[in-house]
Amino acid sequence: MRVAGGSGRSAGRCRICGRPGAIRIPYANAWFCEEHFPLWLERRIRRVAEKYRMFEGSRRVAVAVSGGKDSVALLHALKAIGDDAGFEVVGVHVDLGIGEFSSASAEAARRNAEMLGIEGVIVDLRRKYGFTIPDAVRSIRRPACSTCGLVKRYALEEAAEDVGADTLATGHNLDDMAQFVAMGYQSGDVEGLARLRPVIPAGRYAVRSVKPLFLVYERETAEYVRMRGLPMVSTRCPLKDATSGGVVREKMLEVEEAMPGFMMRLVQEFADKVQPALADRYLREGEVGRCRICGRPTSRDREICSFCAVRMRAAGTATG
Ligand code: SF4
Ligand code: ZN
Ligand code: ZN
Repeated sequence: MRVAGGSGRSAGRCRICGRPGAIRIPYANAWFCEEHFPLWLERRIRRVAEKYRMFEGSRRVAVAVSGGKDSVALLHALKAIGDDAGFEVVGVHVDLGIGEFSSASAEAARRNAEMLGIEGVIVDLRRKYGFTIPDAVRSIRRPACSTCGLVKRYALEEAAEDVGADTLATGHNLDDMAQFVAMGYQSGDVEGLARLRPVIPAGRYAVRSVKPLFLVYERETAEYVRMRGLPMVSTRCPLKDATSGGVVREKMLEVEEAMPGFMMRLVQEFADKVQPALADRYLREGEVGRCRICGRPTSRDREICSFCAVRMRAAGTATG
């Protein structure tokens, strides 16, 4: 049997059923079999969601499904949680127009929604907004992933409102969060850190935004998807840029290996103590302006939101 994360050790017994374990979770000092790990992880996600009141009053939750492992795990876990907690789940996928990578991603999103018997919506950037991510990258001198991130965020928020959701859930995991925290400290970006939280209440935007996987390691979502045999996109995005964040992430995983639970404590303490203190001082959510073009929220000092700025440049270079 393949033993995930059990390097150099013989497998222990599943904490739940006592059969041979398939995965070792060092921070919980436990082993789980392939049947019980996914259930245990869903329970953990549910406890985190409850602690941070992610779905309090939610009736319809839009889940951002890129087709990658984190979003696929999130969709399945939230469907199970929603069935108990009384909210409905809708999968929302943004087709970025990145050739075969995007076709495979859309197909994975569609198959997962079908498997769960839920509504799945695909927003085609080219059709809805007149440009693709490759168009945007050609027209703007900034890293592809940063442009892509802001475009996706905008398209997802609008799509969540369009499908009548009250909550938008995204698949940011613990490794992503640890990287954001470390990079934010390194650059002294106190405003960015003040905005980095597991729950962003509705207000500035019409829907609440939540990150239910923010305390789940990337390795755990990968194992959840593998053990459940879920469809996901395995091709790499051809536009992915090498960033210094990637190096930091790798090094943090080395620290994690030596000090199990390090990344979890870093992110949890940040969310519980540091971010609220920074928010008091640096978050100015009341001061919202409106974009002159699309009417959506923007920073006070900007007439045009970042999305519309990208769209204007990209639409000029759009192909077909
Ligand atoms: Fe977008 Fe970067 Fe992800 Fe590609 S790797 S889909 S460019 S964020
Ligand atoms: Zn078991
Ligand atoms: Zn705008």
